[in-house]
Amino acid sequence: MVKGRTEIAELGEFGLIDRLTAKFSKNNKSTICGVGDDAAVIEASKDKAVVVSTDSMLEGVDFDLTYFPPKHLGYKAVTKGISDVVAMNAVPEQITLSLGISSKISVEFLDDFYEGVEFACKEAGVDLVGGDTSASMTGFVVNITAIGRAKKSEITYRSGAKEHDLICLTGNLGASYMGLRLLERERRVLQGVDNPQPQFEGYEYLLQRYLKPRARYDMVESLRKEGIVPTSMIDITDGLASEVLQICKASKCGARIYLERMPLAKQTTALAEEMHMDPVVAALNGGEDYELLFTVPLDKREQIMNLGCIDIIGHITAESTGAYLVTPDGKDIALQAQGFTPKK
Ligand code: ADP
Ligand code: MG
Repeated sequence: MVKGRTEIAELGEFGLIDRLTAKFSKNNKSTICGVGDDAAVIEASKDKAVVVSTDSMLEGVDFDLTYFPPKHLGYKAVTKGISDVVAMNAVPEQITLSLGISSKISVEFLDDFYEGVEFACKEAGVDLVGGDTSASMTGFVVNITAIGRAKKSEITYRSGAKEHDLICLTGNLGASYMGLRLLERERRVLQGVDNPQPQFEGYEYLLQRYLKPRARYDMVESLRKEGIVPTSMIDITDGLASEVLQICKASKCGARIYLERMPLAKQTTALAEEMHMDPVVAALNGGEDYELLFTVPLDKREQIMNLGCIDIIGHITAESTGAYLVTPDGKDIALQAQGFTPKK
C-alpha cells in the first residue's frame, strides 16, 4: 500500500516532534516530565530530581568552520547543553559529548575543541563524564547531553506562568544573531581573497556573543539566593517570539511584551543600522542568546529590579487575549514563531 509522503515543512519542527512522540506513554513512575520542556525531569529521591537534556550541532547547519574557531565551538557546545538544564532552575553537574568526525578534522583541531570544552566545564563547575566517537561522512557533528539536579519543588517548567505574572529577561537580545550576520558578511566579502583581513572593529561584543556565549547559571544562583522560584522559565535559543509563545502554549496563557523595554546592546543597534535592518527583528527571531526568559508573581517586582541585569519586559495575560508585542504608540503586533524548517 502506498503510504503517501508528507513534507516536514508542512508540520514544522514542533508539529513533527508532537507527531513522533504523541504515542509514547510513561512506563516508569520515576519519569516526572518527558518531552516538551527544556529538559526531562527524573525522580532522584523523595525531594530531589535529575534533569537531562540533549542537543546536536551540525557543521553547515549550526556552525561554519571557515570562521568558527574550534576552541569556541567546544565552549559553545557546553553552553548549549547546560543552558537547557539551567532553564529548569537546576544546577548543571555532568555532560557527555559525542562526536562525528569527518576526514578533514585533525587531531590538533580536536585538541583545541576539547580545550574549549574544558574551559567551559571548569567555569560552570561541570564534569565531562563520557561520550562517543565515530566517523562522519557529512561534516563535524557534536551531540551534547547535560545532566543537572534540583529540588523537585524548585524545578521551573514552561507551564507554570499565571495571569498577571511579570515577564522577565536576563541580559540583552539579538547580539548573537548580529554577530553571525557580521561573520557571514565578512565571509562573503572575502571569499577567494588571499590573506583575508575581516573588519570586526567595534563589534567584538557581538562576535563573543555568537562564538562564545555563556549559559546564565549565575542568574539561577542569584534567584536562589533571593529565594525566588520563577513560575515558568525557558532559555532563549530560537528568539524571544518563539520562547514567549512556548510559555504561552504550555501555561495556557497570553502575554504582552513592550517593545520599548526590549534590552538591546549598543553594538547590536549599531550593526543593525549599518545593515539597514531593525534590531528588534534580531531580538525577536534571531536566537542563540542563551539568556533566560522567566515569569514571577507581581509581588516580586522590587526584588527582581534589585538584582540588576534583569529587565521586566511585559506581563502574562489570559489565554483568550493572545500573545502580543506592544509598540510605543500603542499598536499590538501578534507574536509569531519561526522555528525550524528543513534547509533546501
Ligand atoms: P530546546 O530548544 O530547548 O533544546 P527543542 O525545541 O529542541 O528544545 O525540543 C523541544 C522538546 O522536544 C524537548 O523536550 C525535547 O527533548 C523534545 N524533542 C526534540 N526532538 C525530539 C525527538 N527527535 N524525539 C523525542 N523528543 C524530542
Ligand atoms: Mg531550551
